[in-house]
Amino acid sequence: MGVIKILDESVSNIIAAGEVVENPASMIKEILENSLDAKSTNIRIQVKNSGRDVTISDNGVGMSKDDLLLCIERHATSKIFNKEDIFNLYTYGFRGEALASIASVSKMRITSKRESDELGTEIKALAGKVTKVSPVSVNEGTEIEIKELFYNTPARLKFLRKKSTEYGKIKETVLKESLANPNVGFSLEIDGRELLKTSGKGIQNTILELFGRNVLKNLKEFPLGFLGNLEITRSSKDYMHTYVNGRYVKSQILEKAIIDGYYTKLTKGRYPFAIIFLEIDPKEIDVNVHPSKKIVKFSESSFVYNQVFSEIEKAIGEDEDIVSLEMSF
Ligand code: ADP
Ligand code: MG
Repeated sequence: MGVIKILDESVSNIIAAGEVVENPASMIKEILENSLDAKSTNIRIQVKNSGRDVTISDNGVGMSKDDLLLCIERHATSKIFNKEDIFNLYTYGFRGEALASIASVSKMRITSKRESDELGTEIKALAGKVTKVSPVSVNEGTEIEIKELFYNTPARLKFLRKKSTEYGKIKETVLKESLANPNVGFSLEIDGRELLKTSGKGIQNTILELFGRNVLKNLKEFPLGFLGNLEITRSSKDYMHTYVNGRYVKSQILEKAIIDGYYTKLTKGRYPFAIIFLEIDPKEIDVNVHPSKKIVKFSESSFVYNQVFSEIEKAIGEDEDIVSLEMSF
């Protein structure tokens, strides 16, 4: 007799949750991306209790009763079918792990209704086990309510940072998603206060709503997005917002391409404000490197660097004096 055993589902889900749901912000990111994959045009996020209690409602396509029961199972996804699909992704999700992971470490309630259904369905789950299924009268779309995140994993709970830190990360996450999806209205309420709201009326309105008029008027549009002039440089690299195929990514290659593109115009220790949206054939990138999908691998990284660098150099170089550059929105 050997000593190796296959772990029980409920144990393996908690282990997976350790990677997917690091904190309330990463949980919210997963749920938002599901709403976006479901073609929602309006998403409302309400947060309480340091991010341990979260309700997210969307007006997306919704789920049938059968799908609702499956969505919190591990490796249950409607987004990919075979291994080729992994390298040909057009959705945020594909692992089929997020809801299973979140459910396994929380008390969850989901209601959902599709357009074609008369009534919606409500399910409740405790640590990933369904405790109640019933019909409900709700609007089309999906609402996911999480209560007491990490209630059954005290070690994880201990690692939560102080309230203001968790709230800061949540706001940053929602901001990044709303910037990438300017045709979707987002609202974020924390402890009953509205901290962010976009109307879903295009990129310029979204920039205005997220960053204010001063940023908007100091931005220049260029083929890959928007570049800030020297009036709005920052002392941190966090204002270079880079997206690949609509997905926020942190990439040293992209950061370097942007900074190099501004070349000598930047003073030491200052970084540009930039919003870059790259569209790359999904076959040329691998987002599978980390469960949070924040890291991306380019198969042609020098090509990506050169493309971004030269577009920025061109856009910046066109302006004799980029300090006084003003946009005419
Ligand atoms: P993935 O997004 O990788 O497929 P998830 O665990 O995040 O895995 O979600 C599982 C499945 O549940 C999704 O594939 C989708 O079919 C369904 N789902 C989740 N959230 C929503 C939503 N807001 N609206 C409609 N369907 C959803
Ligand atoms: Mg998902």
